[in-house]
Amino acid sequence: MSDFDCDLFVIGGGSGGVRAARMAAQRGARVLLAEAAALGGTCVNVGCIPKKLYSYAAHFAQDFSDAAGFGWDVGRTRLDWQRLKANRAREIARLNGIYEHLLRSAGVEMLRGWASLVDGHTVNLRTTDGARRVRARHILVATGGTPSVPELPGRELVVTSDAMFDLEPFPARLVVVGAGYIACEFASIFQGLGAQVTQVVRGAQVLRGFDEDVRQFVAQEMGKHGIDLRLGAEVRAVQRAGAGLAVTLADGRVVEADAVLYATGRVPNVNGLGLDAAGVRQAPSGAIEVDANYATSVPSVHALGDVTARVQLTPVALGEAMVLVDHLFGDGKRQLSYEFIPTAVFTHPNIGTVGLTEDQARKAHPKVRVFRSEFKALKHTLSENTERTLMKLVVDGDTDRVVGLHMVGADAGEIVQGFAVALKAGATKAVFDSTVGIHPTAAEEFVTMR
Ligand code: FAD
Ligand code: NDP
Repeated sequence: MSDFDCDLFVIGGGSGGVRAARMAAQRGARVLLAEAAALGGTCVNVGCIPKKLYSYAAHFAQDFSDAAGFGWDVGRTRLDWQRLKANRAREIARLNGIYEHLLRSAGVEMLRGWASLVDGHTVNLRTTDGARRVRARHILVATGGTPSVPELPGRELVVTSDAMFDLEPFPARLVVVGAGYIACEFASIFQGLGAQVTQVVRGAQVLRGFDEDVRQFVAQEMGKHGIDLRLGAEVRAVQRAGAGLAVTLADGRVVEADAVLYATGRVPNVNGLGLDAAGVRQAPSGAIEVDANYATSVPSVHALGDVTARVQLTPVALGEAMVLVDHLFGDGKRQLSYEFIPTAVFTHPNIGTVGLTEDQARKAHPKVRVFRSEFKALKHTLSENTERTLMKLVVDGDTDRVVGLHMVGADAGEIVQGFAVALKAGATKAVFDSTVGIHPTAAEEFVTMR
């Protein structure tokens, strides 16, 4: 080959980087991948996977009490936090190994260390053994993101989601600051695991950007589960108070806690990457700017996933990686549409959503029809659990196409994934109406709403 040591140098072995490296190597490209920490990135190590495992753990508390109405005497229950942490760590280590195996068997050369750009074709790799330069025909920056915590007195006392999985000891009292995905999920999880949770939300409602009915409904359900939601509240300072912490709010009230989680957003991982030196253009937020084929302002340098700070979801990073590889080493026909990306928030109960919120639909379409159903799931008729389910369809009145579908309730993510295919395919409300339900399920409500 030419003057290049490889066809593709991937910086970052997370969701996007691993997928791109594997697919490129399978197409015959010579691929090197540098990872500074654990393989699998955010999703595997401190994101989706451990979060979902803890969400399962948290649901058991509710299941134990629901069981009584079905005739079960469960007896005394207790969370062994150390066992949960150890089992999670074992599973994550297994996944790290699988990622390594997948990369090796695809023929990717793995480099353990910190990589940075020297110019559009040169990467500097720092390892414990020293530094080395690699010349690459194409470079992919897939370095993800990292939690961001605002300046505040006592900032050094708070933790981010990265630390939550291994907290020691288990926080009997937890303050969560923020109202996005991470704040709401961790508030639900730790409340389910047994913590007394106070969630401090600066806005008027949780989950900005979601459908208004969903926001209100999930906040109400989270409150019923025992989360003390403080809407329109801001933290002024965090201080030590005996063995714990005292969180002073702007209105002067003080909340005592054993841990304070700041879930106030994430920023792209760009520090020390040498983007300036290479001439790679960034947005004011630090996010790397890319075109439709994930090329940066330097054509040989590409970027995708969270470092571009667009849609920060694992399946999106994976999809982007496959498009990029197809563009660089295939026929370039593959594309990723950012429309109708389904998503779930693993609150208790879960949120599942795809397409437009009612407000977005009213802005986009002159006539909108909304179908809304709220009910108590069959399971809870015996359990005496007061949890309710919300389902909502948003329909373009002119075309009859279902343009938004939203749910708050058990397994919402599982249910909405299926309906996302229908929305993507352009299903109309008439098609929903002509679809036979599966009885008795909660999901059938989506095809019986009139
Ligand atoms: P990452 O997965 O973050 O990978 C980047 C990698 O680059 C890291 O391993 C990092 O160590 C490495 N790196 C950085 N800089 C360098 C360098 N200079 N040299 C070498 N290596 C470097 N998404 C979902 O779809 N569903 C969920 O349920 C979900 N839950 C989440 C829960 C939490 C708590 C968090 C934080 C995120 C969650 N996400 C979820 C989002 C998802 O994890 C990210 O969108 C996804 O991991 C982004 O992939 P990526 O490849 O862009 O970056
Ligand atoms: P988000 O951007 O979703 O939410 C950030 C939250 O922090 C918002 O509620 C915001 O409030 C609040 N906030 C920001 N700055 C401050 C401040 N100074 N003081 C108080 N509150 C503040 O970020 P997350 O960190 O929750 O998640 C990052 C991304 O990770 C998500 O957007 C999502 O793409 C991904 N993710 C996906 C998950 C999933 O798929 N289930 C789970 C977890 C993460 P306001 O609304 O007022 O701006």
